[in-house]
Amino acid sequence: MDHFSSAIEIVRTLMPDVPIAANRPHLAKRAANWFVNNFGGQVLYAVKANPSPWVLEALWSGGIRHFDVASLNEIIQVRSQFTDAILAFMHPVKNRNAIHKAYFEHGCRIFSIDSDAELNKVLAATDNAKDLTLMIRLSVSNSSASLPLDNKFGVSERDAIELLRRARSVTREDLGICFHVGSQCMDPSAYVAAMDLAKNIIHKASVVIDIIDVGGGFPVNYRGMTPPDMSLYMAAIAEKFETMPVLENCELWCEPGRALVAEATSIITRVELRKGNVLFINDGAYGNLFDATHVRWPFEVKHLRIGDPSSSTFSTFKIFGPTCDSIDALETEYFLPSDIMEGDYIEFQMLGAYGVTMATKFNGFGETIEVIADDAPHVSMYSVQAPTQPTHKSKQRAEKYDQQ
Ligand SMILES: *Cc1c(COP(=O)(O)O)cnc(C)c1O
Repeated sequence: MDHFSSAIEIVRTLMPDVPIAANRPHLAKRAANWFVNNFGGQVLYAVKANPSPWVLEALWSGGIRHFDVASLNEIIQVRSQFTDAILAFMHPVKNRNAIHKAYFEHGCRIFSIDSDAELNKVLAATDNAKDLTLMIRLSVSNSSASLPLDNKFGVSERDAIELLRRARSVTREDLGICFHVGSQCMDPSAYVAAMDLAKNIIHKASVVIDIIDVGGGFPVNYRGMTPPDMSLYMAAIAEKFETMPVLENCELWCEPGRALVAEATSIITRVELRKGNVLFINDGAYGNLFDATHVRWPFEVKHLRIGDPSSSTFSTFKIFGPTCDSIDALETEYFLPSDIMEGDYIEFQMLGAYGVTMATKFNGFGETIEVIADDAPHVSMYSVQAPTQPTHKSKQRAEKYDQQ
């Protein structure tokens, strides 16, 4: 990838016809570092947020060694980059062949389940392996999430008890509880409430639990969606963990996707036509702007122009993407210089997560040029370093797996 100092330098040098993904590996590394130092346990990266090789490399250099994968292709990719990575197959509905290959060919030992049928499948596909780490996925409230993910996965409180007991009886290795509070979770107390539910279930099931995995959902600072400080999430989780009915050696895990990578990429688009206060740009719903269109989130934008300075007055614009589909539209208003015109560029920030990875080739669009940039978005969850906490419990597992 070509390397530039800033977004404007990219535009000046390339004057690109297709969208540019301006990648900042240093910001993914910074976020990884922050999580590794401030989360009091093991940090797994949820690969689906952005599986690009440069992202995995940056996170690895920031200290991430554990990867939450959901498909055989994600497993193959992570394994091809890191032979020592620890893989956790955290999708509660897996293909049998994928389970088999994950276990026998790629050294995956950690599997998430939320039903008896899936447990049967995992046992059968691994020839009744006794060294599985089984993670029971609970159904929890997603009411604090900007992007709820509930109603699809997770076992109910009632059924969790039997499933935990059965899982405990079939593995000699670890048994864990996991959940997902929903993506872009705006309230640390959502994690606390889910942990309280887990606590209740552990009491009722009276089984030994080796891992509490609080999942993903950690937020990003999008326009008009400023979350509480990330250190408050860490503190709330650490405090609740101390009260869990588990042994001293129980591990605490989390699986951030969005929070580790969103800040690391911006998308630079070009204005192809202006019609009054409507702009048509070269990226949208079927390209890299999924959350800006389908989920209707307002993204922070920066106007980029080479040559004459833009006007100092701003107006409200509606923006359409390039395809012929009318849902290819950014539903929120964007404030841009009043004299914006064809050939100007608009940079959308915070698109490292669920951005490039969502793009399709629909209507012949979807080509994106990837480059590296050194600059940073104007806000960050990680620009202030919080005091570091030791991550004692997680270290042991990494060493344990490394020896195999
Ligand atoms: C998507 C997903 C994550 C990551 O969620 P974010 O909201 O991006 O942090 C973590 N765990 C599981 C099981 C997921 O499906």
